[in-house]
Amino acid sequence: MNKINFSNQSFPAQVVSEGIAIGKILIIGNKTSLEKNHGTSDPSIFLESVQETKSQLKDLALKKSQIEGDILEFQISLLNDSELIEPVLKSIKAKEKCSVAWQKKLDSMIEEFEEETDSYFKARAEDLKDLKKRVLRNLTKNDENFSKPFQNLNAKEKSIFLADEMTPSEFIETDWNQIIGIVLKNCSPNSHVAILARSYGIPMLTDFKISLNRMKNVKNAILDGKKGCLIIEPSPKLLKEYQKNVQNNFEEIQLNLSKLAKPSFNSKGDRILVKINADSMDLLTKIDPEHCDGIGLTRTEFLIKDGHIPSEEEQFQVYSNLVKWSCGKPITIRTFDVGGDKPVEGITNNEENSFLGFRGIRVSLKFKDLFRSQIRALLRATALGPIQVMLPMVTIPEEVEETREIITEEYLNLCEKGIKAGIPKLGIMVEVPLAALSIEKFDVDFYSIGSNDLIQYLSATARDNRSVSYLYHAKYSAFWDLMSKINAHGHRTGREVSICGDIASDTNYLEKLLDNGFRSISVSPNSLVNVKTYLASKILKEEPNKEVFKLN
Ligand code: PEP
Ligand code: MG
Repeated sequence: MNKINFSNQSFPAQVVSEGIAIGKILIIGNKTSLEKNHGTSDPSIFLESVQETKSQLKDLALKKSQIEGDILEFQISLLNDSELIEPVLKSIKAKEKCSVAWQKKLDSMIEEFEEETDSYFKARAEDLKDLKKRVLRNLTKNDENFSKPFQNLNAKEKSIFLADEMTPSEFIETDWNQIIGIVLKNCSPNSHVAILARSYGIPMLTDFKISLNRMKNVKNAILDGKKGCLIIEPSPKLLKEYQKNVQNNFEEIQLNLSKLAKPSFNSKGDRILVKINADSMDLLTKIDPEHCDGIGLTRTEFLIKDGHIPSEEEQFQVYSNLVKWSCGKPITIRTFDVGGDKPVEGITNNEENSFLGFRGIRVSLKFKDLFRSQIRALLRATALGPIQVMLPMVTIPEEVEETREIITEEYLNLCEKGIKAGIPKLGIMVEVPLAALSIEKFDVDFYSIGSNDLIQYLSATARDNRSVSYLYHAKYSAFWDLMSKINAHGHRTGREVSICGDIASDTNYLEKLLDNGFRSISVSPNSLVNVKTYLASKILKEEPNKEVFKLN
């Protein structure tokens, strides 16, 4: 093969995640198919490998936050689909080797998805490739021919890696410490890897036409995720220009961060509370409490690992750490919202209509010992800082009253034992239409709208069912009428109404929320910069009321 002089050459590619990266080149070869027929035709071994894959994905999901968790849960749901598993079993029973049967089935599905014109479905081919590899790895017991290419990358310097493709779980398992850019030959901009790269803020290109073999001797590169190109062996002059560019970007980010520290307002000068949703303890190191108005939702289910419900003491430690982190800002902690799409073995049985079944406060009021120990941990943490307790899936006022009695009893018990405790504010998630429509019957300190569930229950559209996802939408006026009703009740009674569902993190809906009179939102940590920057820019565009800035 002719040696190419790459010096200072620029190769076009499609931008998937914006940004500029300057670093060493790391080429990663990855195999997606087995070259030889492996092992057994025993269907039970195949099923064990599928099971093992599910457990690995579950373990990985538990260690990560919401976005990664959702992607991995989606893959687990694919593995639960009999339309995927049954045909493979059938071929195995007809004496095909497990690995061959699995590979054939997945290859044909991947091909079908790749031929789809709808970019959403096209992008799902990548999840199937991920599953194909993982199950094969488990079947072949990690055959070294089929190793994990992205594990132990061990980059010593800032590096950009080039690979043919990468799967979502490979992305999630990669150590991003020194990896600052990604170039993949094949990847859809709607794929989960693309979504992850954007959410991690890693510049990424795809549709790169040069064969990786020809790039073997390349050392340095610039990934330009603005223009959409990879510049190989840049000249010192070009390198200097780009370094300056990176410095300017850095300054822009600093400017955004300085906006973050300021309180947010709407264009009339009303204060808008921007809190964050806590889905893991990562938040304590990733987010400065000065950048938000506290925590609007803590999904305590993240504390349940492998069916183990944390003890009162373990929970107290976590809640106290949140209090320490928050520097006096309110922390809303939701009691366990298990059931629905978050089953816990031994507690929520595999119900057919799990979203309509044993979920949230319904579970807590049935498993009273567990509930009481969570309440005790919360009351003890309330003695240390401003904890607000929030109940999920509340449907009727009696659920709140029963909880209030438990809180009072546990408070008195703790006081009797000389253990420091406080009575927290008590609020509810408004996510069941029955509760939303009779909001005035709920005598609580605050309300938080769970739009994710409210939309699903209002439209009779399961939030995880892709075949009816066109109906799962916040655009319908009946939804906004209901939102306004809840907010009006909050205004009348002087109680805070917040929104902690995903629409609060979506800048497409922020304006509508503000126009509808909402003044408090709780957003995912990854959206905080976007949301606060958006709010600041709205004020600037709409001729600011100068008083607003004096308040800073
Ligand atoms: C919601 O339903 O909008 C919500 C925030 O809760 P979760 O997504 O955890 O059900
Ligand atoms: Mg909910």
